[in-house]
Amino acid sequence: MVRNIKPLDQETIRQLAAGEVVERPASVVKELIDNSIDASATKIQIYVENGGLDLIRVVDNGTGIPRKDLELCVQKHATSKISSPEDLYKINTLGFRGEALYAIASVSRLRIRSKHGDSPGAELECLSPGNTRIRTVGMPQGTQVEVRNLFYNVPARLKFIGGPTSEASRITSTVKQYALGHPNIAFELQIDGKKQLETFGKGNILDCIGSVFGLQIRDHMIPVAYEEDEIEIKGYVSLPSINRSNRSDIHVFVNGRPVSAKQLMFAIQESYSSLLMVGRFPIVIINLLIPPEFVDVNVHPTKAEVRFADDRRVASVVGRTIRTALQEAFSSRDAELPQ
Ligand code: ADP
Ligand code: MG
Repeated sequence: MVRNIKPLDQETIRQLAAGEVVERPASVVKELIDNSIDASATKIQIYVENGGLDLIRVVDNGTGIPRKDLELCVQKHATSKISSPEDLYKINTLGFRGEALYAIASVSRLRIRSKHGDSPGAELECLSPGNTRIRTVGMPQGTQVEVRNLFYNVPARLKFIGGPTSEASRITSTVKQYALGHPNIAFELQIDGKKQLETFGKGNILDCIGSVFGLQIRDHMIPVAYEEDEIEIKGYVSLPSINRSNRSDIHVFVNGRPVSAKQLMFAIQESYSSLLMVGRFPIVIINLLIPPEFVDVNVHPTKAEVRFADDRRVASVVGRTIRTALQEAFSSRDAELPQ
């Protein structure tokens, strides 16, 4: 059979691009939280209905979007965060690709309200990409993004995502993760009108651990800290008596971004190797602060994967820091750390 090569039509291109960034409702929540954090919000409220398929609303008290930029922000590759290729090598925001809102607008009914500075608030309604309407609205400073009918125009995608309960639980995990990584921000998550999570933004990681995991686990966490040669590590790890059957509570942040980095996971598990049975995993919340030019976050559109200029050094510092903290905890409890 002879097939002709031809350029894809605009709608197909849009849906392909959207698919990379918004795989499921939780990815929308992640992108919107990233934007709120980049806007210096100190309070982020998330409302979800029907697993995020009917409604995802994220309300922040950040800097807001100037009215003149509202239409731009839903356009492809439109961003206020970088402006030249060199900027890609020193990224200090969570977003930078300028594609999340465009992608979300391509697969949902999107409405953005925002108030910036002294100007009145404005609301942008995206009927379809390129077809938008703006009107003035009264609102406090910040941004409110409403995503309705997610994937209404991509029935094939709907088949690949779970039911409302499983999508809601993925959203809850996403918000919990950000709450753990950003103790300075007050998070609130409501699902179908029920409050699932609340943190208070007082800057104390232990408080956030208490809100996310409960007080019993909070009381079995020990602090880890390291600072040398431009690497800083802050966080808490569980005593071996508290452990899990999978890695899902190993939370690593690099400059505030939740990441999955294989070498780091390995180093963390190694530091517990003599303390946990095979197949058991600790609870770990660590934030690595590293100069942005030592980290490459431009590896994948979802930015969950990062590379370090010196992978091995970072992994070994993380491993050693956790091991030292565990050793100290054991010696203060008069017990030897098993070799
Ligand atoms: P990126 O985050 O990569 O820049 P997005 O598509 O997520 O791309 O957002 C586009 C732009 O819209 C951002 O660069 C920012 O200027 C603006 N923006 C989006 N969400 C918010 C928000 N909650 N508060 C302030 N500005 C926002
Ligand atoms: Mg973004």
